[in-house]
Amino acid sequence: MSFADLGLSDELLRAVTEAGYTDPTPVQQQAIPSVLMMRDLIAIAQTGTGKTAAFVLPMIDVLGHGRTRARMPRSLILEPTRELAAQVAENFEKYGKYHKLSMALLIGGVQMGDQVKALEKGVDVLIATPGRLMDLFERGKILLNGCDLLVIDEADRMLDMGFIPDIENICTKLPTSRQTLLFSATMPPPIKKLADKFLSNPKTIEVARPASTNVNITQVLVEVDARKKRDVLRDLLNADDVNTAIIFCNRKTTVRELAQSLQRSGFRATEIHGDMEQSARIKELDRFKSGDINILVASDVAARGLDIKGVSHVFNFDAPWHPDDYVHRIGRTGRAGATGKAFTFVTSADAEAIENIEKLTGQTLNRIKGSGEAAAKPAATKPDPVESDAEQQSRPARRSRAKAAPQVEERPAPAPKPERAPRKAQEKQAPRRAAAQPSEDSNESGGWNGPMPDFLSHGFN
Ligand code: AMP
Repeated sequence: MSFADLGLSDELLRAVTEAGYTDPTPVQQQAIPSVLMMRDLIAIAQTGTGKTAAFVLPMIDVLGHGRTRARMPRSLILEPTRELAAQVAENFEKYGKYHKLSMALLIGGVQMGDQVKALEKGVDVLIATPGRLMDLFERGKILLNGCDLLVIDEADRMLDMGFIPDIENICTKLPTSRQTLLFSATMPPPIKKLADKFLSNPKTIEVARPASTNVNITQVLVEVDARKKRDVLRDLLNADDVNTAIIFCNRKTTVRELAQSLQRSGFRATEIHGDMEQSARIKELDRFKSGDINILVASDVAARGLDIKGVSHVFNFDAPWHPDDYVHRIGRTGRAGATGKAFTFVTSADAEAIENIEKLTGQTLNRIKGSGEAAAKPAATKPDPVESDAEQQSRPARRSRAKAAPQVEERPAPAPKPERAPRKAQEKQAPRRAAAQPSEDSNESGGWNGPMPDFLSHGFN
């Protein structure tokens, strides 16, 4: 099946060809005709499947006709994080270049003046994170009763971040006759309930999870002694054919320390995490994208959804606490037909996390033993004097400091079990903003962390 068979306009086909796509992905094949026919849709699809274009492409044609009205966006796309919102905006720019659609982005950490002005003039597409949208709605800056098309993207992630009450609230502000498209990697009961309540006679499609079926990603568990993780990592970085790598850690402090440690060992590494200023994140990402550096040490939220071409390796320096994070992390490699490798470090404390990952992906992962001996030998890599000294002399002190003030990155470590209990507990306590889990939509989490769409930096047209 070709893009032309899907009923898209000639202008759109031209833009798709120029984007370099030859065939629609399975989610695009199934979603696009239904969206063009104005049907509600539930799509169970993960990032990496081409799901963004599955709603952006038909939306461009649907919105190609009709006029904007002041303060009344014609369509609304809800995204859980700023960076995903920005990527969707970039998609509209890329595929909509032969259409004259106007767009605004409502996300935390970015100056809102121009965006609010754009909204006042009227926009075809509003892309927003739920918290920021509700803030503006409550201040009377937006009217949602002209919004005939709603996309709820990454619904399960919205659930994790405590956004479902906001989304329900937003749904009640839109016309009941609207078209609603819901995308989610999984269908936990609260999302099913949301869909039952707010979608009407939806078509449901499901495409294979890239993580469980993406044969392009070689997944390996590396059994390590917790104290040898850095050595084992250096071994793998040296021994394996690493072109570009993203290394995930569970805590911001680990991200910072590991990036510095790798730099001291002579690797071209940098970091990206929620404590960094927006401008610093963009700068480091650009360095990574341009090849100036080839190793990015990252936290989950900072790196979520990043679409960087040609990442050859993903390392989970820490096994992720939540299995869906594993899926998202390894999905940074093996994208768009390329091959990739994903190494996950496993210590004795990670048995439950790995069990959950294997349950979710339906796979038993291969295991190897990482000794870290090569890196530990002085000749193998440059020595890391600062780290070695610190490790030997002040490990107990560092540990007790960490205990006193655990620097948890955007997502908390679960209390012993069950795996999902902590998030649910947080949602109950603070439905919109979990205290220990600053949302991507809040300024205190460090500001913008994604690519900057052109229309934000060059003013709105
Ligand atoms: P997504 O699942 O939306 O995160 O998209 C994953 C990646 O696939 C992005 O880099 C898209 O640019 C790319 N992509 C989307 N559709 C296609 C297609 N039909 N052929 C090749 N690549 C695609």
